[in-house]
Amino acid sequence: MSNTSIGIIGGGQLGSMLCSAAKKLNIKSVVISDDKDAPAQSFADEFIFSKYDNDVKIQEFCNKVEFITFEFENIHYDVLKKIDEIKKVNPKPQINKIVQNRINEKDFLNKNNIRTTSYISIKNEGELKSAQDFIPGLLKTCTLGYDGKGQYKIESEKELDNLKIDFDNDYIFEKLVKLKKEISVIITRFGPEKYEVYDPIENIHEDQILKYSKVPAEIDQNLYNQSIKWAKYIAEELNYIGTMCVEYFIDKNENLYVNEIAPRVHNSGHLTINAYNISQFENHIRAVCNLEKIETKKIYNAKMINLLGDDILVYKNKKLKDNEFFFDYLKKTIKEKRKMGHLTIIE
Ligand code: ADP
Ligand code: MG
Repeated sequence: MSNTSIGIIGGGQLGSMLCSAAKKLNIKSVVISDDKDAPAQSFADEFIFSKYDNDVKIQEFCNKVEFITFEFENIHYDVLKKIDEIKKVNPKPQINKIVQNRINEKDFLNKNNIRTTSYISIKNEGELKSAQDFIPGLLKTCTLGYDGKGQYKIESEKELDNLKIDFDNDYIFEKLVKLKKEISVIITRFGPEKYEVYDPIENIHEDQILKYSKVPAEIDQNLYNQSIKWAKYIAEELNYIGTMCVEYFIDKNENLYVNEIAPRVHNSGHLTINAYNISQFENHIRAVCNLEKIETKKIYNAKMINLLGDDILVYKNKKLKDNEFFFDYLKKTIKEKRKMGHLTIIE
């Protein structure tokens, strides 16, 4: 094992895949998570079970590693900042502060002349009732939402009357984009103007949850160039270190919009494990641990299927073809719509 070590905050499947990438590079991984059943403990060299605001455990975690990163963006900013003061965290906590709030994120994008859907901040019932211009739209919690959680689709003014909204949270109300397609661009930034960019990936969601991804995305050259250009611009503007993902909408008139930025490795990039010489996870570890940047190339076209809830059961004992790769996240309990594993098929 090399002398280098990486600390990963969060213990979900993204953490697991980061640990596997670290292992491949001979880097020790230490995961900290507040979930005692965190799947990543099966993949990490060490696991610390702790609340994120336990100073003693955080100190212990920091002492064990040379570099620190995170696998989910919803860690409280103050916690991340505190950790960063003990040992540098990448991507920087300030980036997370922008991206973990949907309003701050869209304000940042629009300030940089990057198209997003129209949106308005909603703090109470009165503001919601007078936001008819955004119907049909999606009301989303500004923070802590994922996989469609905390989202309400509103298709007519009538629906506003029956909505039970908890206004302890802040909300964003976004106009619904008439989607032709969704794509994502995953980029790893190693330093100023130093990137590896993956080809745009085409994504299909069901009930606001990613279900299928494939590379290459079927898009024209303009959209290809524009999506990569914006991803590079965003990474540069944020002074980002590591792997990030930009999720895009394409509307029926072929307009490109940024939906959101994920300041981390991303579900749509799972296929990079089998389709590229270097996966999004390995590139993230390389960038955060200051390792060499290696030219990243696609070896195969690929498709990925997310296995949600019971879907996983079929695959646990299935005989796979040579071009199929099954990943079991080893989650203790199956829940409906929970991401339990995925299957990648290379072509
Ligand atoms: P999450 O943080 O849960 O990924 P997103 O904002 O990415 O939330 O929404 C999840 C999915 O819901 C999107 O990928 C898209 O399919 C759909 N969606 C979200 N916002 C809009 C919108 N404004 N217009 C059309 N579809 C949307
Ligand atoms: Mg999303």
